[in-house]
Amino acid sequence: MRPELEKQLSSCKNLPSPPGAASKIIDLANDPEVDIREITKVLVLDPAITTKILRVVNSSMYGQVRKIENLREAVVVLGLNATISLALSFSLLRSFRTDGANAGIDYTLYWRRALLAATASRVVAETVGLRAAEELFLACLIQDVGMLALEQSIPGVYEDLPDQSQQAMIIQRECDKVGVDHACVGGWLLERWCFPERITLAVSASHDLDKVPADHEYGLFARCVAVTSLIAEVFLDETADRPDFEPLVDAVQKHLRLDKQELNEMVEKVSVLIPEAEAIFEMRIKAESDTERLMEDAREILMLRNLYALRAVDSLQVQSDSLQDRTKKLEESNRRDALTGLYNRGFLDHYMETAFAESAERREPLSIAFTDLDKFKNVNDTYGHQVGDQILAATANILNANVRSSDIVARYGGEEFIIVFPNSGSELVNTICQRIVEAFQNTRHDVGAPDDITVTISVGMATQGENRTFKSIADFIDAADKALYTAKLQGRNRSIPFDLVERISAGRLS
Ligand code: GH3
Ligand code: MG
Ligand code: MG
Repeated sequence: MRPELEKQLSSCKNLPSPPGAASKIIDLANDPEVDIREITKVLVLDPAITTKILRVVNSSMYGQVRKIENLREAVVVLGLNATISLALSFSLLRSFRTDGANAGIDYTLYWRRALLAATASRVVAETVGLRAAEELFLACLIQDVGMLALEQSIPGVYEDLPDQSQQAMIIQRECDKVGVDHACVGGWLLERWCFPERITLAVSASHDLDKVPADHEYGLFARCVAVTSLIAEVFLDETADRPDFEPLVDAVQKHLRLDKQELNEMVEKVSVLIPEAEAIFEMRIKAESDTERLMEDAREILMLRNLYALRAVDSLQVQSDSLQDRTKKLEESNRRDALTGLYNRGFLDHYMETAFAESAERREPLSIAFTDLDKFKNVNDTYGHQVGDQILAATANILNANVRSSDIVARYGGEEFIIVFPNSGSELVNTICQRIVEAFQNTRHDVGAPDDITVTISVGMATQGENRTFKSIADFIDAADKALYTAKLQGRNRSIPFDLVERISAGRLS
């Protein structure tokens, strides 16, 4: 950025700055040692944020069976990073809710775009398998913050700009007036606020992905941010008879390697999420325009694009793309179990090596849960192997839905699964595993029989680096397996920590 502009921005008194609560939350975000107690202590002081977080955790996005009533539980469900990101988005959103009438920015459009992009981020994260979904949410929500900074510090920059539903017009104006666009300014501002690097980088590259090398640690994250902004654009575009999907189709193909069908599904999912997002953020995101019509146009255009693609003669490009695609898919499939889509045993072994070493290095506890479906042979014997497979796939969904994005769920073999909880102590993991057991109790599977069936699960837990240190990964897994065995002996459908097993065998408990 030009030094004069930087000076002008820095000396501007009205430059948006994070409010008190947000500053505290940013400190937490930058503190690797932060724990649940500290974060609840900060958040509970702000009832508005607490309420919103509870609303999010109880929304269909998280699919909780039981209503979560308190902040501590909500933090357990969401995970620390997610909570921090959400709290920060709410806090910033609130402080910048700018309804200023004298401004050149069309704030209604500004906030609609921000929330549409943030809403789209959930779908994009899920589609490409990005685990930092909440950080992505925050980055998408805040990606245009540079506009607020420019508006405050360069008078008249957006004056009389007619159509603000298109980023291209906004960017053009910024470049004409100040020589840089709001992505650069936003990145600069977030850096000043000490935002986590991943978010700062993604915002500054959101209009120009060449700034982030494809294999950069945060490359995928940055590409997702840029794509959500294009998705938002499609929903915002009410002027055109039909929204312009072409740039979006090209972008998702190029940056996320998703095809048109996948894009189509994403756009549909976003439109489903909008009402709930509106309720949570108490804001109207979408204009009254007819979603149905939008979807129909989208489908039509995508179909046309398919026809064009069939005639594509640029075969060299197509070939190299598909080769890369196949390599990527192959790499991914090497890590995944085909039936459940969970990580496979090979990946788990590899991951455990790192997690075990890191836990010792950083003196952080590491927990694992060894789980096994109860009386699963009966399911196969009674309903057939295919129904068994169906239950295994459902099991993967239940496990994934009940752990945090930082946890790893792997299929260990047959109907046995291992969950790894990095940087998590026994108390936290007890809570999560108890929730998993309950989730299985509460899930009814439609197996084509007159009555739905329920399959329960038993769980054995072990924690490294809290009260004890296991010598090897094998010993560690063995401890969780012993706890699982005890859970089975005690009647199944329960979770038991290894500590309890030891107390039982020492005769101190029965
Ligand atoms: P317990 O509560 O003691 O664990 O009883 P169980 O019947 O679950 O125990 P056991 O380990 O003896 O049985 C596991 C069954 O899981 C046997 C096997 O047929 C079934 N199984 C393992 N892998 C698959 C699979 O990929 N698909 C299906 N349908 N069944 C599988
Ligand atoms: Mg079993
Ligand atoms: Mg078994």
